[in-house]
Amino acid sequence: MKASVDELAIFGGRPAFPEVLHVGRPNIGDRGRLLDRINDLLDRRWLTNNGPYLEEFEEQLVKLTGVPHCVAMCNGTVALEIAIRAAGLAQEVIVPSFTFVATPHALQWQGITPVFCDVDPHTHLLDPCRVEELITPRTTGIIGVHLWGRPCRVGELTEIARQHGLRLLFDAAHAFGCSHQGSMIGGFGDAEVFSFHATKFVNSFEGGAVATRDGDLATRVRMMRNFGFVDYDQVSYVGTNGKMTEVAAAMGLTSLESMAEFTAANQQNYHRYLTSLDGIPGLSLLTYDEEERCNYQYVVLEVDQGVRRLGRDLLQQILQAENVFARRYFYPGCHRMEPYRSYFPSARLLLPQTERLVERVLSLPTGTAIGPDEIGTICDIVRFAVSSAPEITERLARSAPLEAAPARERRSEGT
Ligand SMILES: *Cc1c(COP(=O)(O)O)cnc(C)c1O
Repeated sequence: MKASVDELAIFGGRPAFPEVLHVGRPNIGDRGRLLDRINDLLDRRWLTNNGPYLEEFEEQLVKLTGVPHCVAMCNGTVALEIAIRAAGLAQEVIVPSFTFVATPHALQWQGITPVFCDVDPHTHLLDPCRVEELITPRTTGIIGVHLWGRPCRVGELTEIARQHGLRLLFDAAHAFGCSHQGSMIGGFGDAEVFSFHATKFVNSFEGGAVATRDGDLATRVRMMRNFGFVDYDQVSYVGTNGKMTEVAAAMGLTSLESMAEFTAANQQNYHRYLTSLDGIPGLSLLTYDEEERCNYQYVVLEVDQGVRRLGRDLLQQILQAENVFARRYFYPGCHRMEPYRSYFPSARLLLPQTERLVERVLSLPTGTAIGPDEIGTICDIVRFAVSSAPEITERLARSAPLEAAPARERRSEGT
């Protein structure tokens, strides 16, 4: 516990944690099971190309999601690119800007224009009213993102897509193991895309999958994943290499076996944060619907900018000095990143809620690598910082060395 402002590490006190706590530290399942599988695949000398572990992994995905076709891929981004191509998207596609940059990149990479749409400030998800306003004769589809594992307004988006003859995809990179109105994510829209990147709830080191109820779409996706081959020596389409390796599938299978344990750890952490941050003025934690299946992989804090003059960025710097590397997801918003920033210099005028959110959101460490004690300490620091805000800001104004301190963020530790 910090007893005075002097004890904060930002003012030279001893950091609360000797080692850094990260957002998105990988969940590791049973190491013994993984090593056994790796030995097996080496003995078999079958390292990739529809191996037995790949098939088993896809069968497990089908079983867990209840979606008849699940096609595993080398990563979530290539899975998105292939789903977009197989669904026939072209010209303009409506996407949120408040997402990881892979979502618009998967479109832009193939010459399709991402049209950025604003989100609902309460849910952080695509706002269906704003979607409708952006539809033009060039629009071919909508990609919703189930941000933080919380499902989009699927019913309304489905209806909009139907009325306008548009394709509907979901970037479900955050939402593996989550449900919407009792049905598992994976079966909505024309297709949904999962990521099994190291930082995600379930990981295969790198990996992804396309899930769909449409058998023809699944066939095209499988073909495109494998250079367009339909048979030995027979190629009938331009394809790419999106295959998942056996070692990745072995990790994925091992990770799936520990899903219940990962969820329990995340849920316990989330509850600890909820109770320990309760009642702090200017702060609110994004909540999950506990009636649904949920992976609780993200603990998302919203910080009122004005509150006692302690904004989100200062709170992040205070925590970072204590070795708590909280992150500003998805700062500064895709529309403010290149090339979108140059292509659409006035996009921000249409994205007031996104512009506001990117200044407020702070993602806090969770996962199997940390537990209730660490979270208690993190929350004590936050509470102390907020209650001492006037003193902290006044001291900083006198010394003012912090402005330039770059956030030490590493992509490898969190997407
Ligand atoms: C992680 C992520 C992706 C990309 O997945 P990779 O497996 O890292 O390629 C796409 N969209 C969102 C929202 C993500 O968080």
